[in-house]
Amino acid sequence: MTERIPHDINVDLHMHSSASDGELAPCALVKRAAANGVQMMALTDHDTIAGQKEARREAREHGIDYVCGVEISVTWGGQTLHVVGLNIDPDHDGLNQGLREIQIGREMRAQKIAQSLIDEGLPDLLGPAKSYARNPDLIGRTHFARAMVEAGICPDVNEVFQRYLVPGKPGYVAHQWATLTQAASWIQNSGGVAVLAHPARYRLNAMTQWALFEEFKALGGSAIEVVTGSHTEQEARRYQRVALEHGFSASRGSDFHGPDESRFDVGCVPPLPDATRPVWHDWLR
Ligand code: AMP
Ligand code: MN
Ligand code: MN
Ligand code: MN
Repeated sequence: MTERIPHDINVDLHMHSSASDGELAPCALVKRAAANGVQMMALTDHDTIAGQKEARREAREHGIDYVCGVEISVTWGGQTLHVVGLNIDPDHDGLNQGLREIQIGREMRAQKIAQSLIDEGLPDLLGPAKSYARNPDLIGRTHFARAMVEAGICPDVNEVFQRYLVPGKPGYVAHQWATLTQAASWIQNSGGVAVLAHPARYRLNAMTQWALFEEFKALGGSAIEVVTGSHTEQEARRYQRVALEHGFSASRGSDFHGPDESRFDVGCVPPLPDATRPVWHDWLR
């Protein structure tokens, strides 16, 4: 048998199911990944591991190498960052307790979001948003966005975000997520590796970004996403250089949320540039 070259296999290490704010159940998501030729995958729902076992079971059925994952919401320097944990142990107590705290914070934030929309003259959308949250432990802005589209407030989810749910808009509620230190330690204590998600999405000047990468590295962070559905090709090239500069491995993921809402399908983002070390290098069978 010829050896598989790490860059050439179809790896997707960032996607969402209905256990968080994705549209498809874990099982249906894995079926879609299989149909798209994905050979290794991680389901990385926001702040929950509820979908892991179903995804792992289904991936085995399709002969896909499965990596347990999560995308943890973090507040750093007053901004929200996302840290993906890969190869985590979904049964680890510390990780589960940490995620539980974030989930409780999400519930409290949801109540405040609903109130801020009421203050804007909109109806109470907490119930409708919850009906879109198929995992009752995990409510997010996307569930509000879908409920607001259904209520006819905006034609699509993107417009809801632009008009209501982002900083500076009336339905936005500032929130304190986990610290970077907590996220990195929960992930690493459960045996996983910490990956900084979609770095181009954060509004950081060059110096602050440097500080973030160095702090992340000092906390044990091992990789950054280079190719993601959130990066342009130019951004992927830039973060390839950043990965090399700071000594990070590189990850690749679609950040797929659903057929109606995502630009890139599962397994369909460009390949990782050659020069970087893939984060999945050690996980090939
Ligand atoms: P939350 O973690 O609940 O604050 O929600 C963040 C999620 O909202 C992201 O993971 C995306 O799925 C979604 N989101 C954020 N900004 C936008 C946007 N401009 N358009 C569509 N979805 C967005
Ligand atoms: Mn999301
Ligand atoms: Mn994210
Ligand atoms: Mn994501």
